Parts: sequence; structure tokens; C-alpha cells
Amino acid sequence: MPARKRICVYCGSSPGNDPAFLKGATSLGKALADHDCDLVYGGASIGLMGTVADAALASGASVFGVMPKSLADKEIAHGGLSELYITKSMHDRKEKMAALSDGFIALPGGLGTLEELFEIWTWSQLDFHRKPIGLLNLEGYYDVLISFLASTVEKGFVKSSHADMLLVDSNPGDLMKRMNEYERPDTKKL
Ligand code: AMP
Repeated sequence: MPARKRICVYCGSSPGNDPAFLKGATSLGKALADHDCDLVYGGASIGLMGTVADAALASGASVFGVMPKSLADKEIAHGGLSELYITKSMHDRKEKMAALSDGFIALPGGLGTLEELFEIWTWSQLDFHRKPIGLLNLEGYYDVLISFLASTVEKGFVKSSHADMLLVDSNPGDLMKRMNEYERPDTKKL
């Protein structure tokens, strides 16, 4: 039997102001379990973070939270996780989340989500890892960012092979399928 994979989900500690975001986070949690994947995430019970964790647990996936000590109170750690890792710092948190995971997906979110997505993407660009990275573009939330990213290629700052590493989809099941089939191309930053 193939080993279960672990997918790290980056997403908002807020729910956003459209219930469709919560619905999409729930669908992703379920899609992870349907694809025999477990969830790694920031460990909070609030916002889209809590929703994706609840949905994954309810669908039978294991859920691993990773939270820095300084945030454990503020972000309200989820009480029902398979395991909650407490790290010394935010940097340790991100490193732990990356080490635990076989792939990464960003849902809608704020500055923390964007930072996490871009960091893991730059690590792939530099060939520090070869794992798939997906962007679940719910309700066109990331449309403007996607246009901007096209212009970073057009203006000569990002190679199209690096831009294309981000798998963009609006359907959680389709995105999971593409993540499973992903092979990082042999392309160098410099
Ligand atoms: P946000 O998208 O801003 O709601 O944040 C989503 C998650 O990212 C939360 O767990 C935040 O604690 C986390 N976060 C916020 N800032 C950072 C950062 N600079 N690096 C890594 N994670 C962050």
C-alpha cells in the first residue's frame, strides 16, 4: 500500500467576508482525505485554518499543526489535532511545516499566507526542494496576483519555468490530481 502523503495548507487566520471561502476550505479538507493525504498546517482553530483542519479531521485525515510558542495563545491552538508541534520561532515553524510535507497548497489568506506561499515557491526555484505547490484560486481571490505574476515574467524578472511551478486551479479535487502528477522541471535560477 502506498504511504499516505502530507500536504501543507497555508491559509488565512481570518475567514474572509464571503462564505464561499469557508466552503472552499471545507472542500479542500475533504479532497485531501479523498486523495489519501493528511494535513499539515499552522495549528490554529480560527479562520480558514480552523475550517480546513475540521474538514480534514471529519473526513478521516490526520492533521498535524505547527505553531510557534509566541502565537500559541493568540491564534488559539486547535484542541482536536492528531499532533500539535510547538516551535521556538516562526522560522522554525515554517521549516518544520516544510519538512513534514510532501506538497503545499495556498488558499485565500492575508500577509502570513502570502509570505508562506512565496517562501516555499522561492525554495523550489532554488531547487532546495522539488515538491508541488498549488494555489487554490477560490472566487477569483488571486486573479490580480496571477496577472501581476504574468507581468514579472514579461518584464524579465521571473523565468516562465519558475512561474509555471505554481499550479493554479479553482477546484480542490483537480488541484490534488495535478499535485500528484507533478514533476519539477530541471530549471535553474542562475
Ligand atoms: P494570515 O494569512 O495573515 O491570516 O496568516 C496566516 C498564517 O500565517 C497564520 O498562522 C500566521 O501566524 C502566519 N503568519 C503571519 N505572518 C507570518 C510570517 N511572517 N511568516 C510565517 N507565517 C506567518
